[in-house]
Amino acid sequence: MPYYCASKLPEDDSFEHIIHNISPGVCKNLPPPELRIDLGAHNGCAAALSKAKEKFSVQTKVNACLECCKHCCTSEQDSDEDPDADVE
Ligand SMILES: [Zn+2]
Repeated sequence: MPYYCASKLPEDDSFEHIIHNISPGVCKNLPPPELRIDLGAHNGCAAALSKAKEKFSVQTKVNACLECCKHCCTSEQDSDEDPDADVE
C-alpha cells in the first residue's frame, strides 16, 4: 500500500492542502519533508483524502495532487485529455 502525506501549508491560489502519494518516483511535486503531514498507508487516494479531512478542520479545503493522485483531484484539468487514459 502506498503512503500518503498532506501538505502542511495551503496552496497560494486555491488555499487547498494537497495530498500526495509519497512512494519513491511517483510524484515530482512533493512538499519538503518538514512541510508534510503524514497520513499513513492507504489503498488509494480516496482513503487518503478522507484521512486528510479528519486531520484538518472542517473549513479546510483538501484536494489531491494532479500528478500522483489524479483520480481524486478535483481541480481544473486539461480538457484535451483522453478520458479512457484514466483507467488504472
Ligand atoms: Zn503529488
